[in-house]
Amino acid sequence: MTGRFGEFGGQYVPELLMPVLQDLEKNFNKLKRNAAFKTQLEKYLSNYAGRPTPLYYAKNLSKKFGKAKIYFKREDLLHTGAHKINNTLGQIMLAKHMGKRRVIAETGAGQHGVATACAAALFGLKCDVFMGVKDMERQKMNVYRMQLMGANVIKVDSGSGTLKDAINEALRDYAATYKHTHYVIGSVVGPHPYPRLVSFFQSVIGKEARKQILKEEGKLPNYVIACVGGGSNAIGIFSGFKNDKKVKLIGVEAGGYGLKSGMHAARISNGKKGILHGSLTYILQDKEGQIKETHSVSAGLDYAAIGPEHSFMHEMDRANYVSITDREALEAFNLLAKTEGIIPALESAHAVAYAKKIAGNCSKGDIILINLSGRGDKDVEYIANIVKKKRGII
Ligand SMILES: *Cc1c(COP(=O)(O)O)cnc(C)c1O
Repeated sequence: MTGRFGEFGGQYVPELLMPVLQDLEKNFNKLKRNAAFKTQLEKYLSNYAGRPTPLYYAKNLSKKFGKAKIYFKREDLLHTGAHKINNTLGQIMLAKHMGKRRVIAETGAGQHGVATACAAALFGLKCDVFMGVKDMERQKMNVYRMQLMGANVIKVDSGSGTLKDAINEALRDYAATYKHTHYVIGSVVGPHPYPRLVSFFQSVIGKEARKQILKEEGKLPNYVIACVGGGSNAIGIFSGFKNDKKVKLIGVEAGGYGLKSGMHAARISNGKKGILHGSLTYILQDKEGQIKETHSVSAGLDYAAIGPEHSFMHEMDRANYVSITDREALEAFNLLAKTEGIIPALESAHAVAYAKKIAGNCSKGDIILINLSGRGDKDVEYIANIVKKKRGII
């Protein structure tokens, strides 16, 4: 069935939205085969966003971790600081093609909001970004960046005032304004066709990485590791290796204070099947099916649902899902900065921390490829504060 990954995914939305999603799907399917569109997107991805991103052999870190060779796919070097721009450029060009005059987006930490605001400025579209009141306080700098690029940041104070509430508001707005508005979803979540659409735009990561590692090493990696919030950077890099059965794919969820504490965002390790934001997938919910509060030191991983394709890859045993605690992620953040001079996003630090756990058991010459989804500039102030408060945590 289209729009499903096994039983996962689907379109659990009010009837009102069905024609809108069908129209989006039709336009996307037409456009993704259009040579002129592809050429134009490639041009912006390279000249504006900074693709292809390099593949970097982290020699110092490899030595520290043990026998495996650690490679980074450097999505952290992209314009606006993370992989998000691969998707927002694609979706905004699609919106423009569909004759939309306005885009809306949800944002948690602000990275997707910033990447949407920047692409909207570039293509001359009005841009409204929904953001939870709590996140606006935590990420003041990103609020200001969005405003500098001409976006209007709309404060959401319903619910817990975080990402899931911002998505609720964005979906509500979309149902009323779709005639002239496109909703730019920031990850491989939400109702069909969004998970496929976002995966399509992020697949450039995997395509490049596969070519680059073959050129560099003459063989495929043993492991590909990525952090998983909604799951778009992971799906992006996994897509390049999905059909190479020998390559082990590992998605790292936020373990927060540890799975036993209940303060985490480990949907696959600790959640159940359910429906959130239009999609059937693994989610964190209570006995009544109400969405649980989640916690992670990294706002980008702090979401109660995982993209439906990940739920499917988990059930098919094609990818393995693990979790890393806040503390382990902070240690990896610090280690990468000290050994390689790279300050990663706290999200990406989760992937690095898991590589540390498996590198010791690797054979000499094994290759671990980590998707470094973003840079840590956005996290520096936060880190400085916790170092001040709890001396010695990192
Ligand atoms: C948003 C974000 C994530 C999480 O989103 P995915 O859709 O799971 O990729 C991970 N890393 C960074 C740097 C981000 O900004």
